[in-house]
Amino acid sequence: MKNWKRNVRRVIPYTPGEQPNEPDMIKLNTNENPYPPSPDVFAAMRAFDADRLRLYPDPTAGVLVDALAKRYGRKSSEVFVGVGSDDVLAMCYLTFFNSGKPILFPDITYSFYDVWANVFGIPFASQPLDENLCIRRQDYYKENGGIVFPNPNAPTGVYLPLADVEDIVSHNPDVICIVDEAYIDFGGMSALPLIDKYDNLLVVQTFSKSRSMAGARIGYAFGNERLIGYLNDVKYSFNSYTMDQWTLSCGAAALGDEAYFRATVEKIVATRERVKRELAALGFTMPDSLGNFLFIRHRSVPARELFEALRKAHIYVRYFNKPRIDNMLRVTVGTDEEMDRFLTFLKEYLKKSLKE
Ligand SMILES: *Cc1c(COP(=O)(O)O)cnc(C)c1O
Repeated sequence: MKNWKRNVRRVIPYTPGEQPNEPDMIKLNTNENPYPPSPDVFAAMRAFDADRLRLYPDPTAGVLVDALAKRYGRKSSEVFVGVGSDDVLAMCYLTFFNSGKPILFPDITYSFYDVWANVFGIPFASQPLDENLCIRRQDYYKENGGIVFPNPNAPTGVYLPLADVEDIVSHNPDVICIVDEAYIDFGGMSALPLIDKYDNLLVVQTFSKSRSMAGARIGYAFGNERLIGYLNDVKYSFNSYTMDQWTLSCGAAALGDEAYFRATVEKIVATRERVKRELAALGFTMPDSLGNFLFIRHRSVPARELFEALRKAHIYVRYFNKPRIDNMLRVTVGTDEEMDRFLTFLKEYLKKSLKE
């Protein structure tokens, strides 16, 4: 073996959902928002002066940080921003998970959590969800090097009541607890107000789902001034200019259009609730999701078979070939029209396959 091979950092990377590009496709596999970003984002893009690209962007991402602080009623010093919440979460791992003790997260959860642990050499111990796919708060009382979980959880959609989130944070005063609220706008109550009460809490959110801007890569974290200061120190030690000028302007513009944001979220929630009822009538069961997706299982047709059949029809959903969830499909809530085509396909497919 060549000597250099011994010193390569070898990791198993995160596998994102596929990004097919068929003209007639229905894309329900990566929890993107089916509606366009706010018209104010289109306007900000048109108004952007390309001559500004000569200059480095503002390293503090000031316009975006200030717009977030204003929108959420916080101080700018309590806001950290990054290239999607994936970047924000990775920075949090690097900054706070250095005790050498295992960090804790659920066994069924966002599949990036163990990937970051591996790339940074952080030990971890995953905690099994209960038989209803819920987080058991008692599992997080043991000694650990930090805690991270999404609320609502992904891919289950299950929301952990705020009292339980607080219970976990309050049982762990000596480590940083990260609540990943990628889907919070679609239903649950945010843990954001708790950052005043707990100095070990970080609340992470994103523009990728509820603000229809997955392609712009904007994520952010709220925490007390000291935590945000530590995060910025690490960020500036890594890459001072993670967010480009154009993205900063578009992100700030999106935050100004509260009416559009609310209307879009309401439409998705209404579609989600209707599709829950229609899927149940077709023989599907699912945990009660508060995200922009449903995690479904059919009483007789295996998930993998349905996944393949849907894919052939250019309807893309997500299948995870993993223990405990290999008979389930995660389906993003699209427009009403997209969901009607999805439901029509299922009706016809089930009629055929149950006759055989
Ligand atoms: C989508 C998602 C993210 C990542 O979002 P980006 O901001 O696009 O990086 C983080 N956590 C969870 C649970 C997600 O589902």
